[in-house]
Amino acid sequence: EATKKKKPNWLRVKLPVGKEYAKVRKLVDEHKLHTICESGNCPNMGECWGAGTATFMILGNVCTRSCSFCAVATGRPPEYDTDEPRRVAEAIKLMGVKHAVLTSVNRDELKDKGAEIWYQTVVETKKLSPETTIETLIPDVKSNWDALYRMISGGQEVVSHNMETVESLYRRVRPQAKYNRSLEQIKLTKEFGKRTKTGIMLGLGEKQDEVYKAMDDLVAHGCDILTLGQYLQPTKMHIEVAEFIHPDMFDLYREEGLRRGLKYVESGPLVRSSYHAERHVNV
Ligand code: SF4
Ligand code: SF4
Repeated sequence: EATKKKKPNWLRVKLPVGKEYAKVRKLVDEHKLHTICESGNCPNMGECWGAGTATFMILGNVCTRSCSFCAVATGRPPEYDTDEPRRVAEAIKLMGVKHAVLTSVNRDELKDKGAEIWYQTVVETKKLSPETTIETLIPDVKSNWDALYRMISGGQEVVSHNMETVESLYRRVRPQAKYNRSLEQIKLTKEFGKRTKTGIMLGLGEKQDEVYKAMDDLVAHGCDILTLGQYLQPTKMHIEVAEFIHPDMFDLYREEGLRRGLKYVESGPLVRSSYHAERHVNV
């Protein structure tokens, strides 16, 4: 049992060093920005930041939800910052980012779920960096479809919304979300005319059949792109890793996902929803 829980060597990562990394670090600090790379303790920071990519988290760094895998603080968020869209857009321009990934905490207490700030951030970014493509990893809007449409109408190329896990684990992993509601959100995003994407973490105790069922549900709801990665426990307070999935299994899932009708599947132990995101723009 003890060896089962020990991190296998395919999950070892390089330490973040280098000039480009230092530049991203400086801009993030100077612009008082939040990144999911840092809050999520992402194992790819060396690679992504070293290549000048980061995933910015907007609408603050306190979330109204408490997903059991997530290291973002839960609480009542302070008033949001209307200057944030400008600061994010400026940092993206200064970094010379070719493909920007934006995400946010959940702001369930806001009537518009943060849609206006989302919209402004995308519009400002496009204004300052017209050549930059954008992926927005948006939260669950709780069936507020007006908020959804505002959130996704700023001109972004990809709209992702993470399912995170299979249906049977929702109560434990994503207690404030609903599997079918998230599928519906993806379906409406597709019908609105957007390229759709989602991510599922593996190693939380899901069964193979359940992953296949999720793939079929995603295809039926118009999802184009799927990312599959190993869940890693950010701290002892978070849900435990049930299993470390072997890299060969990730390969099998990729093939199976494509066979079942997904257009693109990014699958591997260190894959995160924003990993290799630039490859998903032309899918
Ligand atoms: Fe940041 Fe995503 Fe790269 Fe991780 S994979 S370092 S979260 S951009
Ligand atoms: Fe973390 Fe997002 Fe869940 Fe909030 S909604 S706890 S930011 S995963």
